[in-house]
Amino acid sequence: MSAVIDALDASLAGPPATATPAALEVLHEVFGYAAFRGQQAAIVEHVCAGRDALVLMPTGGGKSLCYQVPAIQRQRAGRGVTVVVSPLIALMQDQVGALEELGVSAAFLNSTLDGDAARQIERELLAGRLTLLYAAPERILTPRFLAMLDSLHERGLVSLFAIDEAHCVSQWGHDFREEYLGLSALHERYPTVPRLALTATADDHTRADIVARLQLEAARLFVASFDRPNIRYTIVEKDDAKRQLLAFLRDEHEGEAGIVYCQTRKKVEETAAWLVEQGIAALPYHAGLDAEVRRVNQDRFLREEGLVMVATIAFGMGIDKPDVRFVAHLDLPKNIEGYYQETGRAGRDGEPADAWMAYGLQDVVQQRRMIDEGEADEEFKRVQRAKLDALLGLAEAHDCRRVRLLAYFGEASEPCGNCDNCLTPPATWDATEAARKLLSCIYRFHQHGGFRAPRAFGAVHLVDVLRGKRTDRVAQYGHDELSTFGIGADLGESQWRGVIRQLIALGHLRAEGEFNTLVLTDSSRAVLRGEVTVRLRVPAEKVARGGRMRKVRAGGGGAGKAAPLPLDAAGEKRFAALKAWRGEVARAHNVPAYVVFHDATLAQMAQAQPQSLDALAAIGGVGAKKLERYGEELLRVLAG
Ligand code: ADP
Ligand code: ZN
Repeated sequence: MSAVIDALDASLAGPPATATPAALEVLHEVFGYAAFRGQQAAIVEHVCAGRDALVLMPTGGGKSLCYQVPAIQRQRAGRGVTVVVSPLIALMQDQVGALEELGVSAAFLNSTLDGDAARQIERELLAGRLTLLYAAPERILTPRFLAMLDSLHERGLVSLFAIDEAHCVSQWGHDFREEYLGLSALHERYPTVPRLALTATADDHTRADIVARLQLEAARLFVASFDRPNIRYTIVEKDDAKRQLLAFLRDEHEGEAGIVYCQTRKKVEETAAWLVEQGIAALPYHAGLDAEVRRVNQDRFLREEGLVMVATIAFGMGIDKPDVRFVAHLDLPKNIEGYYQETGRAGRDGEPADAWMAYGLQDVVQQRRMIDEGEADEEFKRVQRAKLDALLGLAEAHDCRRVRLLAYFGEASEPCGNCDNCLTPPATWDATEAARKLLSCIYRFHQHGGFRAPRAFGAVHLVDVLRGKRTDRVAQYGHDELSTFGIGADLGESQWRGVIRQLIALGHLRAEGEFNTLVLTDSSRAVLRGEVTVRLRVPAEKVARGGRMRKVRAGGGGAGKAAPLPLDAAGEKRFAALKAWRGEVARAHNVPAYVVFHDATLAQMAQAQPQSLDALAAIGGVGAKKLERYGEELLRVLAG
């Protein structure tokens, strides 16, 4: 990650981030936003000036504006169309829908269009009337499309290539797309057209691939902070995961949209069905479902409000719904990259959002086993194990989760005040003695084998012996005669399971084979010899339950979803009326509601109660086109 840090330092030390007045004007007038965020200004300035860039920015960081503003500004200066390479059809449609709402001339070319519609767009393109054109790479690389580009280019009307989801060019990443490899042809054919590649995937390896394969050696690298301050990270010990999830949904996210990730298709379907039984509006999504069912479910999730999508990781890339209020994990992801990308789908609109995960012994054992028993070579397994260890370290952490997450991506930070460990610092205890008892008990099992063949002794049996329970199995193997029999009667069953989980997570213990036989590791010996102190979180049952408070939102009583701002009763009524109005507009225009206005924009209107078009224009998210189109209606709705 050191290269990323260098890049971060370099870009922070670069020239101050000022965007040209023309770019700011586009931001205010078209998007209705007051200011650029973070590095947007510097990136926009660089791209407007016609230079290449590679942008690494977390999900929700605001990548789209980095090419949309230059596209608009450069088109105004007579430089022609910006071609946006995007791998996902659903995403193109939503982006184009949103741009049309803003009054920007944008279109997409993909397989969902019939011949007539496609030809109409091609005519617009050739006439130089489009500001942004979205297309998939395989489309762009067809002779027909390249011929059109040639014609535009001869007339100086190809302004910019924006390559979205640029990590798709890397085989190393998880979203590799063969067609992306062909994109270097664009640069060879049109070397003077600037290019902007964007991605939210930050690891060094992928980044090096992007630079090499897209020939971006001379491009300036912009690495934004990967922090998502509005996301609250919480990791709880699993005890009855479904019930814990239900409590989380009911207590904190009633009526709100979110994603629940599960590892298997079966678990997705079971969980979704169970949530529906409990009265939660939930839908399933996984790669095994019929394509049409997947399309409908995804569409409903994007367009309707307050749906919970229960999904495998097949769901997510290209979902840029801004008002996802939570992402919950019922199973452990493979590594921190996965966790960060999945949780990053929450709260793109910058409003408070939750990343919640339930995690237990079984998760640790399963993930370790999947690596051990995988087909990959030793070197690859070693990398995977190290990545899993980092994630387990995060799950078991007693200190700020965000500090650890950001450190993983090479960023130093201070305790955040917005994760479970910052909000309710967990009690820890010195578990060195307990760990030694446990490990020596395992040691005795193997020593004690005698004439009886050594057997697979898993967690349940171990805890029985430690707690002095004379089960049949204990008697059968004579484990009640061991010196360690009953030495752990002071801790409860689930406390011992917690110790086992944490020891496995820390690498002091390993579960092997079909029966999860517990075996000692090199570092267990150090613990046994008393060379290592083991500090563990206090097991869940020792802490009072229900420690978390329901988020209090002033005036947010009653059914349904509260506004993202504190509103009084009259304000809530205005907010509800605005949302009802928005729903009608969204249906009429066949776009998701958030494309018309974000919740935050409506809440500001409800709070400020603007009485004139000028006052309305001052509200964040109200650009010139929307003001012209909806201003009068909004004033009427606000007047009640
Ligand atoms: P990304 O593609 O990086 O995941 P988006 O481009 O979808 O992120 O932006 C996330 C959200 O933030 C969008 O809803 C966008 O409208 C909003 N946004 C981006 N930049 C700004 C800004 N400068 N001011 C206000 N809102 C912004
Ligand atoms: Zn924190």
